[in-house]
Amino acid sequence: MTLSATLAGSAPRKVFNIVDGKQTEAADGRVIDAIGPSDGAVIAYMPRSGASDIDKAVAAARKAFEEGPWSRMTATERGRLLVKIGEAILAHHDELSLLESIDTGKPARQGKADITATARYFEFYGTAADKVHGETIPFLNGYTVAVVRDPHGVTGHIVPWNYPAQIFGRSVAASLACGNTCVVKPAEDACLSLLRISELALEVGFPPGVLNILSGLGEEAGAALSSHRGIDFVSFTGSPEVGTLIQTAAAKNHIGCTLELGGKSPQIVFADADFDAAVPTLVNAIVQNGGQTCSAGSRMLVERAAYDELVSRVADRFRTVRVGTWDMDLDCGPMINAGQKSRVEGFVARARAEGVPVIAEGQLAPNLPPGGFYVAPTLFGPVPRSNALAQDEVFGPVLSAIPFDDEADAVRLANGTDFGLVAGVWSRDAKRSMRVARAMRCGQVFVNGYGAGGGIELPFGGVKKSGHGREKGFEALYEFSASKTVVINHG
Ligand code: NAD
Repeated sequence: MTLSATLAGSAPRKVFNIVDGKQTEAADGRVIDAIGPSDGAVIAYMPRSGASDIDKAVAAARKAFEEGPWSRMTATERGRLLVKIGEAILAHHDELSLLESIDTGKPARQGKADITATARYFEFYGTAADKVHGETIPFLNGYTVAVVRDPHGVTGHIVPWNYPAQIFGRSVAASLACGNTCVVKPAEDACLSLLRISELALEVGFPPGVLNILSGLGEEAGAALSSHRGIDFVSFTGSPEVGTLIQTAAAKNHIGCTLELGGKSPQIVFADADFDAAVPTLVNAIVQNGGQTCSAGSRMLVERAAYDELVSRVADRFRTVRVGTWDMDLDCGPMINAGQKSRVEGFVARARAEGVPVIAEGQLAPNLPPGGFYVAPTLFGPVPRSNALAQDEVFGPVLSAIPFDDEADAVRLANGTDFGLVAGVWSRDAKRSMRVARAMRCGQVFVNGYGAGGGIELPFGGVKKSGHGREKGFEALYEFSASKTVVINHG
């Protein structure tokens, strides 16, 4: 019986790790409840993996890397298998979308979009696998120098709960395309779609040990994986605090890591912008996925001359935002868990207590299940520049409006947090848009648009507290491989 068939029925059922090509439980049989955030009900039991489970998975991944058949395949053959996972994801689109939405609470159409994007990661990196070219370097007479790219070996992947399938796809597909083998620790709050995709990987012919996935708690399975001496690289997406732990563990083992740690991304709106285009995008960029998006546009910086007009139009739209269960399929679902709900409510309560004006609120649908983790989307403004709402990542549907005086002030304000992930610039003045885009200290800038999700082809990552390294696009292939310089003396 498939997972989603179970979820649609009455009793929660056990789900399993995939280690060395087999479904396994935690060695000591312990489980964690998988909670559906729409109503707080237990929907499945997942293994609470420990250090010994991680040991087995890393050993299996090492064997698969060293002994083949993975390492003996051509890049084209590896790529074909990745494309087959993409196809299998699309063939199981309804089932996986359902899992993703029930497990995270995200509205049904967002779950569907996420699964489509996950398939795209496997297609993109599958077809890119045999295009990871090296280069030659002119050197001394009688020499040919080739720079080739080697896989790292075994890569560890620690995945968050906000876009479980997508973030799994983006890091695992890129790593596998380079010829690595993988051990994945998804988030304890949402991992059902990933476990199902890993089953599909076995069905399409992935050799045992190439893709291992183990659920568990961060401080147990996550810490055991990130500090394991048997892994050669770590990819992490999550909070800055845990990112520091991951980087410290990687440093102790002298291995590389990519860290994607969230942001406080600004959208800069000049008075000459096309407000009709900007307003829906400004709102969507903070309510999508309940604001639980690393690239959420959580700061709306508005040229003072247009502040009142733009903010009032955003407020009108904000008041129409509706929050409900995943299957109501409204604008926003619940927060992922009780802790995240109280974290967001804490930010809102503190800002209110400090006198930051509330401009507008979204609406909770009537009769929501009492066990769900719902918060009302809130638009604050003008938010003082040093306030927590202007500086800290809320990771919820809370938008801060802040006025600026001129272009230089906008750039200073946009760059004036500890984060640097994504920025948006809205203006009809092409030269100014380009100047401001180039002045942003972050990894991605959108001009007259804002793509919070998707963008499989576009390199993505941060600076400062938003992390380092790049996921997505071809750049990820360079993260998941290392150059080797071969110097041939034929003189
Ligand atoms: P987190 O960083 O604690 O969890 C992310 C992943 O890291 C999960 O798989 C978790 O199990 C794992 N993890 C936790 N502790 C670990 C440890 N000691 N060693 C190894 N792995 C560990 O994030 P969270 O608690 O789920 O959320 C807290 C905050 O993180 C959010 O409020 C938000 O600000 C931020 N966040 C950011 C992103 C993002 O996409 N950038 C995603 C999720 C959370």
